[in-house]
Amino acid sequence: MPLSRARAALKTVFGYDDFRPGQDEVIAAVMSGEPVLAVMPTGSGKSMCYQLPAIVDGGLTVVVSPLIALMRDQVQQMQHVGVAAATLNSSNGDDANRETLRRLRAGEIRLLFVSPERLAGDGLVSLLAACDVRRLAIDEAHCVSQWGHDFRPEYRQLASVREALGGVQVVALTATADQATRNDIATQLFASPPRVVVHSFDRPNIHLRFEAKDRPRTQIADFLARHKGGSGIIYASSRDKTEKLSEWLVGKGIRSVPYHAGLDAETRSKHQDIFLQEDGVVVVATVAFGMGINKPDVRFVIHADMPAGVEAYYQEIGRAGRDGLPADTLTLYGLDDMAFRRRQIDEKAIGEAQRRVEKKRLAAMTDLAESATCRRQALLAYFGEQRGPCGHCDLCQGGAELVDATIDAQKVLSAVVRTGQRYGAAHLVDVLRGEATDAVQRQGHDRIKTFGVGSERSAHVWRTLVRQLFAAGALAEASEEHGGFRITPEGEAVLFGHEKIALRSIREAAPKRSRRAEKDDRADGLDEATATMFEQLRALRREIARDEGVPAYMVFPDRTLIEMAEAMPGTLDEMRGVQGVGERKLSLYGEAFLEALHSSR
Ligand code: ADP
Ligand code: ZN
Repeated sequence: MPLSRARAALKTVFGYDDFRPGQDEVIAAVMSGEPVLAVMPTGSGKSMCYQLPAIVDGGLTVVVSPLIALMRDQVQQMQHVGVAAATLNSSNGDDANRETLRRLRAGEIRLLFVSPERLAGDGLVSLLAACDVRRLAIDEAHCVSQWGHDFRPEYRQLASVREALGGVQVVALTATADQATRNDIATQLFASPPRVVVHSFDRPNIHLRFEAKDRPRTQIADFLARHKGGSGIIYASSRDKTEKLSEWLVGKGIRSVPYHAGLDAETRSKHQDIFLQEDGVVVVATVAFGMGINKPDVRFVIHADMPAGVEAYYQEIGRAGRDGLPADTLTLYGLDDMAFRRRQIDEKAIGEAQRRVEKKRLAAMTDLAESATCRRQALLAYFGEQRGPCGHCDLCQGGAELVDATIDAQKVLSAVVRTGQRYGAAHLVDVLRGEATDAVQRQGHDRIKTFGVGSERSAHVWRTLVRQLFAAGALAEASEEHGGFRITPEGEAVLFGHEKIALRSIREAAPKRSRRAEKDDRADGLDEATATMFEQLRALRREIARDEGVPAYMVFPDRTLIEMAEAMPGTLDEMRGVQGVGERKLSLYGEAFLEALHSSR
C-alpha cells in the first residue's frame, strides 16, 4: 500500500506518528497519479503532500513556488532531515547552480524547487524533459488567478511546461478558498478536471479574542505576560507606531524588532532573520510583514489596530500556531480604527463598485469585532463554512450577550442630534453624563434636554455604546477632518422609535483577574515541572541552532521539546517514540538532549 509506505516515511524521516487531517487523502490521491487540487489552510501541512510522495516514489518532483525565501527555507529543511533537495535561482551563484544541474542529470535529486519564471525561461524545461520527472507540484496555485490578490502572470505558462514535460501529473496546492479562484486554477493548470480536496479552514488551536481599545499598552502588556518567552507578531497600522511599540517592548526587557516597508532592505532582512532564527522574539510590523514567513512556532499574534478586513485578519492570525500547538491572538479595535479604515477606502482612487465591495468587507470586520456570538462561527461563516460555537474564543468563554439597548441608544442619538451632529465621542459622553466642562458650557450644551440623562452610567459604557452604534451603522462620520458623528437613516429609525436595536451588553469595567486565574491560563497549559524542563531544552536548542546557523525550530519544533519534557525518555530508543524525532535528527541531537533531560535531576 503506497499510503502505508508514506506513513512509514513520515515517521522515520520526519518523526511524526500521524497525518494531519486531510493529508492522507491528498497524499493517497497524489500517489495514485491523478491530477490533484488541494485547498487547505495555512499551517495544515500542505508541503508534506508532495514531499512524502517524492521521498517514497523516487524520481524527481519539480516544486514551483513564488518566493525565493520560502524555497531556500524548504530546501534547508529537507536537507536537514536527509532528503536530497535543491533549488535553482539567481541568488545561488553560478557554481552552485551548475552543481545542481549536474546532480539533476545524474538523477540524484528528489525535490527541485524553482520559481515559475525560471521554469518558463530558456533551457530548463528541455533539461528536465530528459530527467525522470514524476510530477509538477505547484505551490500557492492561486497565483495563477486574476481573482486572487497575488496574481503572477508567469503562472499562466505552467500549463505549457506541463505539456513540455509530457503531460506529467500536476499537484496544485493553495490556501485560498473562494470558488472563483478554485475554478480558475482547475482550468488553467490542468489538462483534465483534477480531483479537488478541500479541507476545513478552521484552525482550532488558535484562540480568538477581541478587546475594545481601552488602555492599549496595558492590554498588550497583560497579554504578553501570559506568553513569556514565546515568539510573536504584533501588527500595527503605521510605520511610526511599529517603531514606538517595539522600543517600548525593548524597554520592558522583551527582545523585539520593528519591521515595515520604510526600513532599508538590509535592516528589514536582518530583522526578519532575527525573528526567524532566534527564539522568543516579538516583531512589531505593518502588514508588509508575513508573506513567505514559514516559522511554525509563532505563539501569538496581536493586532494593535483593527485589520482592514476579514481576509487580512484570517491570514495574519494564521501565521500563529502552524505547528498545531496552542496559539493565542488578541485584536484591539476602537472607534478611531473604524473611522480610519473608512477614510482609507474613501480616499482610494477606485471605482464606486470597488469602493462598495471594500466597504462591505470592512463592515464584515467590524461585525466580527462587535459580534455577540462565537467568533469562530462568524469567521468561518464568512468563508462559507457552517459551524456550531467553538468553545475556544472569548465569546464562547463567557463573553457578551445581546440585550435590547434601544433606550440607551436613543439617549446617545438624541445627544448627537441636539448638539448639532458634529461632536466626537468624548464631548457626547460629557453631555450624557452631565459633566459641565468648559467646552460643554461654551456651547450651551448644559442647557439641552439630553444633558445628564445618562449620569447613572460610566463614561466607559457610553463610549462603548457610541462605538457599537457606529459599527452598527446608526452613526456615521460627520466630516472627514473631525472625529464627529452624524445620525444615519438607520439611526433615525431607532431614535424615533420605529425600530429597536440590540447591542452587546457592556460590563461596567473589566473585572480584575485573580492570581489563580492568571496561573490557570498559562498560555501553553504546561505544569510547572514540564515548563521548567521545556525552558532547559529550549536553551540547548538555541545553542545548537546558533552553532549550526539554522532556525531553532529546524533543530526540533516546540511540540517535540514539550513531548520530551513530558515523556522524559531515558534512552535513544525511547526518544525515537517522541513526535518530531526522525532517524537523522536522532543521530545528530539525540545524545545531547538525553543528557539535558537527565543532567539536572
Ligand atoms: P502549509 O504549507 O500548509 O502552510 P507547512 O507544510 O509549512 O504548512 O507545514 C506546517 C508545519 O507542520 C511544518 O512545520 C511541518 O513540518 C508540520 N507538519 C506537517 N505535517 C505534519 C504531521 N503529519 N505531523 C506533525 N507536523 C506536521
Ligand atoms: Zn467560539
